[in-house]
Amino acid sequence: MTAARIDGKAVAAALRGDVADAAAVFTDRTGRAPGLATVLVGEDPASAVYVRSKGKATGEAGMASFSHTLPDTISEAELLALVDQLNADDRVDGILVQLPLPAHIDANRVIAAIDPAKDVDGFHPVNAGRLATGLDGLVPCTPLGCLHLLKQQLGSLAGKDAVVIGRSNIVGKPMAMLLIGESATVTVAHSRTRDLPDVVRRADIVVAAVGRPEMIRGSWIKPGATVIDVGINRVPAAEEGKTRLVGDVAYDEAAEVASAITPVPGGVGPMTIAMLLRNTVVAAHRRAGLPDPE
Ligand code: NDP
Repeated sequence: MTAARIDGKAVAAALRGDVADAAAVFTDRTGRAPGLATVLVGEDPASAVYVRSKGKATGEAGMASFSHTLPDTISEAELLALVDQLNADDRVDGILVQLPLPAHIDANRVIAAIDPAKDVDGFHPVNAGRLATGLDGLVPCTPLGCLHLLKQQLGSLAGKDAVVIGRSNIVGKPMAMLLIGESATVTVAHSRTRDLPDVVRRADIVVAAVGRPEMIRGSWIKPGATVIDVGINRVPAAEEGKTRLVGDVAYDEAAEVASAITPVPGGVGPMTIAMLLRNTVVAAHRRAGLPDPE
């Protein structure tokens, strides 16, 4: 069997088109565009690339982008003051503080300072609690993107056996909550899980969010399973001095066994940004007292 390649780039492009339509309608109705504020502390090159691409995508969707770049010498109090200022700014519907933050700043304190209604990353404890209790809130973008791909591929997820590998607050845990919400039977695996290959072998749905290049082998995959690879790992390429990106799943092997699989790059990555835009437009509607866009 050769698995279908799930084209996250194409799905994300369609989603971004829908978000742009919703943003245009919102702007017509309210006289202002939905706005996303990004906060970047320090000069981590990967973070700078992410923040730039988020800002660019925001503009392309017809939304306002407010970008704040701060030196890594900024104090926690100064960063908290900026968050307060953005909380109070009516033009700002979404606030994204790019992680990781420098070691002298407590990321949990900064996340907790964001108005939950503007927390488009979905990391605030109030939004995590809303997700866990089945209430409407803002859901972390990466797992939301994974769920969208799964539903598009499989339709109903009810009764499916799903294994999520990884239990981070950003990916693994919210992914498990979303799958439970769809009535899948969910196992969450992590570094202390015994016999991971055997656990994975039971799954109709595998979501890998580990951060270890090609750790999940083809022989672990149940024939016909759907595989979502969240991992982004930079490894040396064949050509000396060059690098390439690989996922947490050994793609070529898994594609021999699975029925569908996301590639890296071009799978989950583009969905994350699309869902960030979607969360921003949803936050704008809710703050304006309007129903969620389609
Ligand atoms: P974390 O490092 O926060 O979490 C990794 C998880 O994997 C942990 O729960 C850890 O277990 C588990 N783990 C580590 N080693 C093993 C092992 N040998 N066997 C089983 N489980 C293991 O990472 P994130 O959740 O933030 O990210 C995961 C991956 O997804 C990374 O590659 C990251 O780059 C990528 N990512 C991609 C995004 C995208 O847009 N596509 C967005 C966010 C992340 P334990 O808890 O026991 O330590």
